Amino acid sequence: MSEKAGVVEGWVSNVKTVGKITFIEVIDDLSISPVTVVVKRDSVDAETWSKASSMKIGSAVRVEGVFPDIIVSRKGRELQAKAITVLSEPIELPPIDLTGKTPASFDLYVDFRYLALRLPRFRAVFIARAKLVEFTREFFAKNGFLEVHTPKLVGAGAEGGATLFTVDYFGQKAYLSQSPQLYKQMLMCGVPRVFEITPYFRAEKFSTPRHLNESWGLDVEMGFIEDEEDVMKVLEEFIGASINYLRMEVGDMLKTVGLSLIDPPSSIPRITYSEIIDILNSIGYNIQWGEDLDTQAEKSLGEYLSAKGTPIYFITKYPWDAKPFYIMREGDNLSKSFDLDIKGIEVASGGQREHRYHELVQNLKAKGLSLEEFSFYIKAFMYGMPPHGGFGLGLDRLLMTFLGLSNIREVVLFPRDRFRLIP
Ligand code: ATP
Ligand code: MG
Repeated sequence: MSEKAGVVEGWVSNVKTVGKITFIEVIDDLSISPVTVVVKRDSVDAETWSKASSMKIGSAVRVEGVFPDIIVSRKGRELQAKAITVLSEPIELPPIDLTGKTPASFDLYVDFRYLALRLPRFRAVFIARAKLVEFTREFFAKNGFLEVHTPKLVGAGAEGGATLFTVDYFGQKAYLSQSPQLYKQMLMCGVPRVFEITPYFRAEKFSTPRHLNESWGLDVEMGFIEDEEDVMKVLEEFIGASINYLRMEVGDMLKTVGLSLIDPPSSIPRITYSEIIDILNSIGYNIQWGEDLDTQAEKSLGEYLSAKGTPIYFITKYPWDAKPFYIMREGDNLSKSFDLDIKGIEVASGGQREHRYHELVQNLKAKGLSLEEFSFYIKAFMYGMPPHGGFGLGLDRLLMTFLGLSNIREVVLFPRDRFRLIP
C-alpha cells in the first residue's frame, strides 16, 4: 500500500497544538466526523507551521497533503499536511460553539443554521431529509406516477379561504397555495397517477411544535381505483420502504449522532373513527361521535396504540362533516377518508374523492362553498373523470416522527412561523 496525495476543503472545527504537532479538525464534504489534519513542525515550511498553529476555529481552509496508511486519530480520517491555504477567517467570534462542546439555544441553531450545519447532529438530520426526498421521488416514479408541478400562486383555495395568505396579483387578489388538491384532481382527467413534492402555505396563527406556516408536502393522486383502500396500500408500502431505505442509507450515521429511526411496520392497522372514539372513551375521555380529536386526545391515543405495538396507524371513515367537500361520502354521515398518524401526530390525510359531477356539486353546496369560485375545477369533472383518490403528506412531519423529534423546526432549515420570517 502506498500513501495517497489528497486535498481536504472545509471548515475548521477544532485546533490543538501538542509540542511540535498541530491537529486541525476539518469538516469536509457531507461528512459527519471531521478529518484530522496533522501538521508536523519538522515536515512543513515555517509559513505553513505558523498558519497551522495560529489557525482560528471556524476558518474555511484548503489543505494539501497525503492520507497516511496508518491512522492514529480516533475520528477515523487523517491527512498529513504539506500546504495550507486559509480561504476565509471568521471576523468575529461565531455565535455558536463550532467545536460542539457547549450547546447553544434552540433559536440560535435556527438563526445560524449554516453554522449549525457544520455540527454532526444537524448535518445528519438534513442529510436524512435529503435522502427521504430522494427516496420519495424514486418510489413514486418507479410505481408509474408522473411527477408534476402545480401553481403556488392561485386564484382559489382548496377548502374555502380561511387559512390562505393573500398576494396582490397585478391588482387582483391571489393566494399562496395551501395544497395542490384541486390541481392534482383535475390532472386525473388526463393522467392516471401523479405526485408532487411541494410547499404548503397556511396562514393560521399556529402555536404548536408541529405546525409551520410554510411546510413541505408530498401530494399523491391516483385514478381508476376501487376505493380508498387502494390509496392506503400505496401509502403503507411507501412508509415501510422509506424507513427501510433510511435505515440502510443513514441508519449508522443517525446512531453516531444519538438519533434513532422508528421501526418499519410489518403492516399498518386501519382503525375506524368510531373505534377510536370508543378507545378514547374507554381511557377516560368523554368525546361525542362527530367531535374532532384535540391534541391531547391524539397524544393519548398515540401512547395507547404505541403501547400495543402499533405506533403507526390509519384512522379511517371519519364523519363526512369533519372532512373537506372533495371527499366521497359513505352512506349518510361517513366518508371514504383516512388519516395516517404516527405516535399521535397526523402525518397524512387522504381518501377517495367524489368524481361524479352532480354529487360533487351537491357536496360543494353542502359545505357552503361558491360554485363560481370552483368552476374551473368542477369543469374537469365533465369530461370522463375516473374514480380516484390520494393523499397529502407532510414531509416535515414525516421526518420529525421517523426520527422521534419533538419540534418540526428541527427538520426545517429556515422555519416559517408567526414569529419567524427572517432569516
Ligand atoms: P392538522 O390537523 O395537523 O393541522 P391538516 O389536517 O390541516 O393538519 P392537511 O390539510 O390534511 O392538514 O395536510 C396534509 C398533511 O400536511 C398533514 O397531515 C400534515 O402532515 C401536513 N401539514 C398540514 N399543515 C401543516 C402545517 N401547518 N405545518 C406542517 N405540516 C402540515
Ligand atoms: Mg388532515
